[in-house]
Amino acid sequence: MVNLLQFDRAGLGDFCEQLGEKRFRATQLFRWIHQRGERDPAAMTDLAKSLRDKLAGSAVVEALPVASEQVAADGTIKWLFDVGGGDAIETVFIPEADRGTLCISSQAGCAVNCRFCSTGHQGFSRNLTTAEIVAQLWHAEFTLRRRLGLAAGERAITNVVMMGMGEPLQNYAALLPALRTMLDDHGYGLSRRRVTVSTSGVVPMIDRLRDDCPVALAVSLHAGNDPLRDRLVPINRKYPIRELLAASVRYLDRAPRDFVTFEYVMLDGVNDSDEQACELAALVRDVPCKINLIPWNPFPGAEFATSPRSRILAFQKTLIDAGFVTTIRKTRGEDIDAACGQLAGRVQDRTKRQIRIQRAAAHTAAH
Ligand code: SAH
Ligand code: SF4
Repeated sequence: MVNLLQFDRAGLGDFCEQLGEKRFRATQLFRWIHQRGERDPAAMTDLAKSLRDKLAGSAVVEALPVASEQVAADGTIKWLFDVGGGDAIETVFIPEADRGTLCISSQAGCAVNCRFCSTGHQGFSRNLTTAEIVAQLWHAEFTLRRRLGLAAGERAITNVVMMGMGEPLQNYAALLPALRTMLDDHGYGLSRRRVTVSTSGVVPMIDRLRDDCPVALAVSLHAGNDPLRDRLVPINRKYPIRELLAASVRYLDRAPRDFVTFEYVMLDGVNDSDEQACELAALVRDVPCKINLIPWNPFPGAEFATSPRSRILAFQKTLIDAGFVTTIRKTRGEDIDAACGQLAGRVQDRTKRQIRIQRAAAHTAAH
């Protein structure tokens, strides 16, 4: 059985052809799935009977099993989805007065291994498929529409951020059709500026995204010099800051907004001094950007502390005085561990990172 959530509209057209049907029928089918949330081909009444019959025997709309759902005091919802093999991933819905943002995962675990990130701590299990990425949106949109009693045509999710578990640009092949489905007028119809890909800095893939599907870009910078960034975001050793900033500038040629967002997690005594704020300002002087400071969210076993509020405000002031639009991210869903970098959906580390860390610790202890 083929999972129809796997296809963008062009892919669904190919699939219809394989079934011996006209390509254009894919548009109707796509609308049933992504605009009406219908799973059962038999209920897609305006679809040609021949196609409905063929679909019944060969395809399904397979959602992800929900392992748990938690609702925070501020209305934030966190779903834990079971993706098989002992892995689970998380998706977070963040309601605001004028929008509903969904934070989507792209991988079970993450191989980048940032030390301040709960997902990074767990190691990497596997890439999600396009169907698993899209299923997060499909589930959230149609569950919320029913729950909120929205009228036909009203949307629960108005914005998507690829800021859940995983590095989206290390799962590019699956990401691209998922993004196209989000943007498609016959799908979720989100504008390019309402879909954000956040990356730790996979430089060649930033260029690919620019050519294939330029949505809003957020770059996780976190440090104003290479030695510190090498330590915090290990992929920096492969793609250092200078290359990352150059790719960010190239991206702006095609981006839906005329700035990139630099994310900067505030770690007490590590990257939050006034000198480091000045260093950051000098570094990004020539990049049209906004800076988003993220108060670090703690998780068990982490060796960092959150910068005090007064420090974050002072850091922000230095950047604003230097001419940068600088915001401080509001922490949401804290009471259910749904905030940035707290997503820990229980993955099996296929890289055996924990074993390596324990061995290294035992080795150090023995000397
Ligand atoms: N892998 C991508 C997207 C997912 S992480 C990336 O790194 O950009 C989304 C954002 O949350 C990133 O900016 C990341 O650095 C930040 N983050 C990770 N752990 C965090 C934590 N414990 N507290 C606050 N922000 C965190
Ligand atoms: Fe991966 Fe992003 Fe976490 Fe780094 S911050 S480990 S890139 S998910």
